[in-house]
Amino acid sequence: MGEDFDNDRGFDRGNREMHTVVCAECGQETEVPFKPDGSRPVYCRDCFQKRRGSSPPRGRGGGGDRPPRQMHSTVCAECGKDTEVPFKPDGSRPVYCRDCFQKRRNSF
Ligand SMILES: [Zn+2]
Ligand SMILES: [Zn+2]
Repeated sequence: MGEDFDNDRGFDRGNREMHTVVCAECGQETEVPFKPDGSRPVYCRDCFQKRRGSSPPRGRGGGGDRPPRQMHSTVCAECGKDTEVPFKPDGSRPVYCRDCFQKRRNSF
């Protein structure tokens, strides 16, 4: 049960090389665990969190504004009315308007 250095685990805390940089936001010196290459601003922990917190959450899952499904105009095989279906009729089977579709479905 030692506090031996287990070096085979590598990058644990303490071993990471820190680089002193100046925060691009508040100007304070801070240390970061990576070497800034100058291509983008580096922030101290506070500013990093602030920025992170203030930026609107974006991403998957929340959406709700996906594009409407493409509709295809066709003629109902039952009543002959114009209707739209969310798939492209390939002509191999009859397409029904919503009413007729439901009617047929219920009749089964
Ligand atoms: Zn800062
Ligand atoms: Zn119909």
